[in-house]
Amino acid sequence: MSGKRTYDIAFVGLKPGEHQFSYEITDKFFQDYDEQDFTDVNATVKLNLDKKTGFFLLKFDVGGSLKVICDRCGNNLPMQLWDEFKIVVKLVDNPDEMNEQEEDPDVYYIDRNESHLHLSDWIYEFINLSIPMTRMCNDAEIGGPYCNKEVLEKLNKLRPSEDNHHSIWKDLDKFKGLEENSN
Ligand SMILES: [Zn+2]
Repeated sequence: MSGKRTYDIAFVGLKPGEHQFSYEITDKFFQDYDEQDFTDVNATVKLNLDKKTGFFLLKFDVGGSLKVICDRCGNNLPMQLWDEFKIVVKLVDNPDEMNEQEEDPDVYYIDRNESHLHLSDWIYEFINLSIPMTRMCNDAEIGGPYCNKEVLEKLNKLRPSEDNHHSIWKDLDKFKGLEENSN
């Protein structure tokens, strides 16, 4: 758990105003959490921290890449991470109560006597949120660099092709023609 301390910021000593931090995140970071469904994390999380009176404005920029399992063919698929997240952290007397009541997901409360911002859970959450929803190589990627070509070809054969679709309509047209002629 000691690794998490790397992601703590002792804010008491910080001057009011903006401060920048940068964190290189790899698979090692996620060892403190449950098993992940991605690997080969190579991410940079940049933080702009604006210290105000009684609160902080935090902007996280997530960039880099990781690998997920393709939902279609099961191969490893590299994904680019790119997203930013803004949160407000307020210093209060009753943070537990306030956090429970707060409906804005971007507002957090910590104890007025707290001396550190603990970033690791936010970093964890924001990297997860940065992963694109569609974890799939695309249809056109047969022969592409990341796909399991055998699986994709089998899947394509199972699907009625565009050509078959057209010929059904052509046959229907012919059938219609016959009907009209017979009237
Ligand atoms: Zn795939």
